[in-house]
Amino acid sequence: MADPVSYARLQKRLTPAARVTVITGAGVSAASGVPTFRGPDGLWQSFRAEDLATPEAFARDPYLVWQWYDWRRQKIAACEPNIAHHVLASWQHQFASFTLVTQNVDGLHERAGSENVLRMHGSIWEVGCSRDCGKVPHRWRDDTVPFVALPPRCPQCDAPLRPGVVWFGEALDPDIVERCLMATNCDVFLIVGTSAVVYPAAGLVDHARRHGALTVEINPESTPATRSVDVAIAEPAEVVFPRLHDRLFS
Ligand code: NAD
Ligand code: ZN
Repeated sequence: MADPVSYARLQKRLTPAARVTVITGAGVSAASGVPTFRGPDGLWQSFRAEDLATPEAFARDPYLVWQWYDWRRQKIAACEPNIAHHVLASWQHQFASFTLVTQNVDGLHERAGSENVLRMHGSIWEVGCSRDCGKVPHRWRDDTVPFVALPPRCPQCDAPLRPGVVWFGEALDPDIVERCLMATNCDVFLIVGTSAVVYPAAGLVDHARRHGALTVEINPESTPATRSVDVAIAEPAEVVFPRLHDRLFS
């Protein structure tokens, strides 16, 4: 059930003069059919994501890890952005500033038309040399689905290619982290569809609060962030964004 007080509070602050920052997680893509990691369909052949998305798993068995990525790439290629992605894309020029940060690797924000997305965890559509041979660019886009043979090979040194994503235990790109931190200096900070347990992404909301932003969570389930945000809307992103959009722009 829509809570009119929450929507009214948010509407009041989402003025054309507002600086708005949004961080999204797997939940924003759930309605597109992309499985979340921690949801009921987060398992692949009985493996947990945490056991496959690691440098150790890749070193041990690049074939197995690539089978999982190849499966995810095929699944994502068959998905379309949903109304939440589309509304967020349409908001990019509606405010004094608008920054979209995502933990997602699926590329659906870009497919909906969002530009300059800060991708904290990379892209499933990029690959790089696992040996970092230096003869090829660090990362490049490769949408080949499915690959002819797994694991795909570096065109220069024949080492296995790796997915262009950040695995558990790996450092984030410091330049992206810096830009995300800068974007927490805003008037409205929305945290959407993330279980809010993976740092530093989960910590951005605290920075935003210290900058005086109205902090808002959009997630049908409660998370560690729920208690600390100013407004928690316990509904799916694909329901909340079109409703908000109508209130703001029609
Ligand atoms: P997560 O799977 O841990 O959590 C998803 C969250 O979304 C949950 O809190 C759930 O309650 C919420 N949710 C489910 N349906 C929703 C909906 N319709 N609207 C709004 N919220 C909804 O995901 P996370 O926090 O993004 O996770 C961690 C990592 O998983 C990230 O690093 C990301 O790289 C990776 N991941 C990415 C994708 C993707 O690219 N689509 C998918 C799965 C995991
Ligand atoms: Zn190489």
